[in-house]
Amino acid sequence: MINSVFDTYGAAILITLFVMLFLLESKFILRKRVQSKWKRIVINFIVSIPSFALLRILFIPLMIWLATQNQHLKFGLGYVLDLPPWLWVTVVFLLLDYSNYIWHILLHKLPFLWRFHLVHHTDLDLDITTAFRFHFGEMIGSVLFRGAAIILLGASPMMVLIYEIAFEAATQFHHSNMKMPFRLEKILNYIIVTPRMHGIHHSTIKKETDSNYSIIFSFWDRIHHTVRLNIHQNEIVIGVPHYADERELTIGNLLKMPFTKIRDWKENERELNGNKNQMKR
Ligand SMILES: [Zn+2]
Repeated sequence: MINSVFDTYGAAILITLFVMLFLLESKFILRKRVQSKWKRIVINFIVSIPSFALLRILFIPLMIWLATQNQHLKFGLGYVLDLPPWLWVTVVFLLLDYSNYIWHILLHKLPFLWRFHLVHHTDLDLDITTAFRFHFGEMIGSVLFRGAAIILLGASPMMVLIYEIAFEAATQFHHSNMKMPFRLEKILNYIIVTPRMHGIHHSTIKKETDSNYSIIFSFWDRIHHTVRLNIHQNEIVIGVPHYADERELTIGNLLKMPFTKIRDWKENERELNGNKNQMKR
């Protein structure tokens, strides 16, 4: 199942999406770059190799194994509720996404997890290659939490694979630096996380980073009042304060970063005006 669904269809979808977004963000640029594009491509792809390998060798097989065990035991919300199949699939898909919203908050709020997630946030530009810049430690850390979510929700193996493909596709999309027509993005954003929304999450300003945690569906942030859209994209400085020297952000340093002393976030202020819910260009 993993071979046919994930490696064949999933890979085809994700590679096609990657090529499309890569070309689109090169032509329609949302935020001005501060670093050389090609240097970042090399850094982000090399940093992503261990986490990619872990995703395919450990994460996906383990999640499928858990979902299969669950199927035999009939444990988890999906089995207990006895819903019609279409409703069950919808509810579990939504709740899997909700569990990842919570996981993303934990990555920011728990100092031990922030050590690993920090590597992702130290990118000084945000584009589709940032979608791959995750420390492999974050991948290992997510196994327990996301595995527990699969068991508690009673997700079937097929649902796990489909959600994972959707998760990866959404991650590519919202990290991209593609400038979409403003009105189209505004409408899309009522349902899904878009590049402008996620760009604010990568700001060097703490209260902006502490917002917009959703992965696929944007409404989790609206429900929990963690949404912030009232920032113009050209005002955002991408990255983490005290980690802004690109000479320090080498492949070796990024892989070592979680095991070093983590620098405090230097508080910065920005005059905020308007409704948090109002998207700015
Ligand atoms: Zn984050």
